[in-house]
Amino acid sequence: MLSSNQSIIFEKKQTMKSPIAIVLLLSLLSFSSCMKGESVDTVIHNAQIHVMDDKGTVQDAVAIRDGIIVEVGPERQILNKYSADEYIDAQKKDVYPGFTDAHAHILSYARQKISVDLVGCKSYDEMLVRIEKYQSKHNRKFIIGRGWDQSLWKNGEMPTNDRLNELFPDIPVCLFRIDGHALLANEYLMKKSDVVNKVANDPELSSGGYFIHIDPVTTVYTKEEQKKIGVGGATMIGGLSGVMVDNAMNPILDILPDFPESELKQAILEIQDELYSYGITGVHEAGMQQHEVQLFKKLMDKDELQLNIYGMLMPTPENIAFAKQEGIYEYKSMLIRSFKVYGDGALGSRGAFLKEAYSDKHDHHGYLCTSMERMKEIADMCTELGYQMNTHAIGDSTNRVMLELYQGINEINPDHRWRIEHAQIVDPADFELFAKAGVFPSVQPTHAVSDQRWAESRIGEHRMKGAYAYKSLLEQFGMVAIGTDFPVELTDPFLTIHAAVNRKNSDNFPGAGFLAEERISLDECLKGMTIWSAMASFQENQLGTIEKGKDATLVIFESPVKANESFTPNFAYTTFIKGKKVYSVE
Ligand SMILES: [Zn+2]
Repeated sequence: MLSSNQSIIFEKKQTMKSPIAIVLLLSLLSFSSCMKGESVDTVIHNAQIHVMDDKGTVQDAVAIRDGIIVEVGPERQILNKYSADEYIDAQKKDVYPGFTDAHAHILSYARQKISVDLVGCKSYDEMLVRIEKYQSKHNRKFIIGRGWDQSLWKNGEMPTNDRLNELFPDIPVCLFRIDGHALLANEYLMKKSDVVNKVANDPELSSGGYFIHIDPVTTVYTKEEQKKIGVGGATMIGGLSGVMVDNAMNPILDILPDFPESELKQAILEIQDELYSYGITGVHEAGMQQHEVQLFKKLMDKDELQLNIYGMLMPTPENIAFAKQEGIYEYKSMLIRSFKVYGDGALGSRGAFLKEAYSDKHDHHGYLCTSMERMKEIADMCTELGYQMNTHAIGDSTNRVMLELYQGINEINPDHRWRIEHAQIVDPADFELFAKAGVFPSVQPTHAVSDQRWAESRIGEHRMKGAYAYKSLLEQFGMVAIGTDFPVELTDPFLTIHAAVNRKNSDNFPGAGFLAEERISLDECLKGMTIWSAMASFQENQLGTIEKGKDATLVIFESPVKANESFTPNFAYTTFIKGKKVYSVE
């Protein structure tokens, strides 16, 4: 039997056929609103609401008032108990808490959108064509490009700047590799930034990064050429390719101009829309500068930016002063209570710090980008401020030393939730340290299926055992925070699901899954993007599940959320943040 309220809904659908039906409906409506105890803003019903609690509860309906979830329950119970301004019939679609990308870079992505887009370039030539096309349109005084990846090129070798120098002899050009851990600069920029001398004279820069040299036998700069490009010091003879990695990039980063604020704002809002279309309602922004915090605030002031932002500050003097003054900082939908630290570089550019030498470069172990002395200082500061320390650690050596360092906070506060970002190559003997030190692993499953082409050549078969080992990490800590690291990878969370559960890329390669024994379940992956991400940012009382008292930040998905053997795209149908519809396909 239908309750009075259900008959209203039922009749709503068949309405307007006759005036009598309308009159009947209106009288029923007014009758019901007199009868109803509790009025709410919105009821979403006839849904498959995945609460994401420990019991795996699935419910039919949810009532929302003032942006907060009032009750989740069976269809009849919710429809009988509440009178809503708006009823949304979800047509049995899947509803989940809004997804969080637990490690990403909105600001880098924004800058990538405004820069020359080099993502997917199949050759150096294609890169040059794109730069020329961009420059003829924008006529920038400083050309910045992002996203090249030499592993997609025929020879797979790192580029050199000679042809860039011919095309752009008198304007600075800076082209970032896809992972952001290496850049190609033209001669003009190298000279302008004095990067070679600065790195040579600063041990922190030269030990935490390096220049890629052109084979000295085939290409040797003349004295005049060296003078021209500002090469000095005995170590640099043999010719520079123009590619520098990790800390060796710093003198160039120091003089890199930012884009106009209006362009950045527009790009950020475009990114927000893209995220909403995938059901992403929150991002852990992995490394912010103070002016970027202020930029987000400006957008939030105008209610243009509604995404939940969990900010990780870079440990600059300015940010440290901010953290000391503000403590745990909350502003509208932004929460800041963590520092992001670079432990090492990336595996692709051999900056990851390994216990044993690289399998394809026998004299090289990579390096720490931040000295252990500095790491300890940052850890002490975080302890004092109640901040979380989130360290980028790719190589097994970096993971080991950070896990040992984190043991200190664990003894003071077992619920510290300090994170290792990436935890990419871990010595199997060290896995237990995640449990022992209570360290939260933060992983990006699409990295596994992107790196599969060359990861083994870098570290050899014997070290693949602890590589991209999400299941092993999950077993240790009981949770993983899951993200994409966009713009290094695409924003699409369904690619993440496919990579985590099936261990395949969007082309469904490899058929049997890459290191398939490390696959996690769909439920675990979804928890990594919802409740565990909320735990990883101390926001589990507000986000991560669809339960009473939490933000009504949730998503109705277009198709059932599944992990089919072959990649099946999916999108949000309607996305809500705090009860407000921020995206809808309609
Ligand atoms: Zn990152």
